[in-house]
Amino acid sequence: MIQPRRIACPMASCGVRLPCLEKVGLMSMQTFKNIVLQRLHPEVIDRLELQRVELPVGREIEFPGSGIANLFFIEEGIASMTVTFKDGFEVEVALAGPEAILGTSCMMGTRRSLNRVYMQIGGYGYSSVMSVATREFKRAEQFHDLTLRYLQAQFIQSAQTAGCNARHSVEQRMARWLLLCSDRVGDRVLPLSHEYMADMLGVTRSSVTVVAGHLQERGLIHYTRGKITLVDLAGLEAISCECYRVVRDHLRSLADRDEAYGA
Ligand SMILES: [Zn+2]
Repeated sequence: MIQPRRIACPMASCGVRLPCLEKVGLMSMQTFKNIVLQRLHPEVIDRLELQRVELPVGREIEFPGSGIANLFFIEEGIASMTVTFKDGFEVEVALAGPEAILGTSCMMGTRRSLNRVYMQIGGYGYSSVMSVATREFKRAEQFHDLTLRYLQAQFIQSAQTAGCNARHSVEQRMARWLLLCSDRVGDRVLPLSHEYMADMLGVTRSSVTVVAGHLQERGLIHYTRGKITLVDLAGLEAISCECYRVVRDHLRSLADRDEAYGA
């Protein structure tokens, strides 16, 4: 069986569980970028016992068959959730940025991850030990409601992505994917290689090169080695499939509807 390509976690050499975490005191006094953390009451933040964690490119947060020991709240950066098949073929089923809580399936009863989740664009975030987060979840209060709301948003994104992969062209999907990445990092410049894009879109690298070349010729993007600049956002949205707007609008509602969080 061909094993999927696995990028080594740069922290793995530390030799202890969750190494290199920086303990941060008075977390409830912090200003967060993560949409969920922004809305949690200070006492909930304190009970989660958050620790800052660096999330460099390639850092694996979950891997198929591995246990899920911690919950992660992304502050900066983008993670990809992928499905990996026995032949090593890998395709993205969801993106996660500063709206995300990663590892939530463990609180729903999943003991071992079914997906590979790793950082596509590096950043940092906060971590909570799963037993601590689960205890807070079982209080069935604000953190519980926020987590379920995020899971619903993630489900909608995954369902839309599954339909998109089956129905829409590589050009449409690339435009969708670039726009969703740009929205999450708040920047038009994305440090992404063609190889990563091919993995995420489930196509060959040569297909990515051809389609990216067409987008550049039309003045929609500009790319150099390892970096893609979105030049014309409106133009990209015009050629993207409807899936971009479905996912974007749902993520916006996740951020806007404070009443849904009991905030
Ligand atoms: Zn689509």
